[in-house]
Amino acid sequence: MPTLDPLMRRAIAERVRFYNELGIYDFYRREARVSEQDTVLSAIHSDALVPTLPIELDTMLAKKSAAAPKTPEGNIFEVITPNPEQRVSDPIAALKLIREDLGDCTRCKLHKQGRKQIVFGVGNPRAELMFVGEGPGADEDAQGEPFVGRAGQLLNNMIKAMGLRREDVYIANVVKCRPPGNRTPERDECDTCSPFLMRQIAVIKPKVIVALGAVAAKNLLAINAPMSELRGRFYDFTPSGARSNDPNWQGAKLAVTYHPAFLLRDPRQKGEAWKDLQMVMKYLELKPPQKSE
Ligand code: SF4
Repeated sequence: MPTLDPLMRRAIAERVRFYNELGIYDFYRREARVSEQDTVLSAIHSDALVPTLPIELDTMLAKKSAAAPKTPEGNIFEVITPNPEQRVSDPIAALKLIREDLGDCTRCKLHKQGRKQIVFGVGNPRAELMFVGEGPGADEDAQGEPFVGRAGQLLNNMIKAMGLRREDVYIANVVKCRPPGNRTPERDECDTCSPFLMRQIAVIKPKVIVALGAVAAKNLLAINAPMSELRGRFYDFTPSGARSNDPNWQGAKLAVTYHPAFLLRDPRQKGEAWKDLQMVMKYLELKPPQKSE
């Protein structure tokens, strides 16, 4: 693959983003005949980089997420090249391929800031409900599983109150390595890591995603708003830059609620979080467990 100068790279990213916003994800590139740079330059100004046809534009526009996150510039070639998991239908095998692709990841600076291990995600690969937090903490880093500390216990209680078990849902984070001192993951770290989360979502095909806390919500929705504005409604969500191989899956509903760690610090907000979960339960037709259970 040729090395592109930043200007060209940005221009191609803009073009890919434009098509992604229309719901178009499949592309081909013409072979370079003269020189790679000339071809790339002409691709920017012509239709050399074009979506696979035929395209039902109306359908594509209908699929467009109201809040589709942007495609990070650094990952444009992951959009152009189909991801390996798209070739398998079994979600367990597909998630394994994503994990293998992630490898012993050094893509962002979190890999050298004290992480013990990558925390990929856990749960039912066919889950209808998925929870997404911001990143692993100390317990998660030690055990290699998201939400296993005190906040994890509270999340388990929240899941149980919805009439489900932890193993019924899928749980992941925006970044897969622990930020030092549990600081908030930075923008470049989220942009680098989140394409893997998008691919996990595209494989799992949940009906509902619950974003736990403002960091997860803002990264998934690409909306910069306070929690008070983000909560209390569903968003249409399609994973940016990743495509499900199931044409019947048109994306998920996304709801925002408080991060369990925040609820531990301010238990008065548990009632508000319960309202968010009840909205999800209604959509998924879930019933709270009977008292005797
Ligand atoms: S946070 Fe994500 S992108 Fe960064 S090193 Fe860890 S796995 Fe890689």
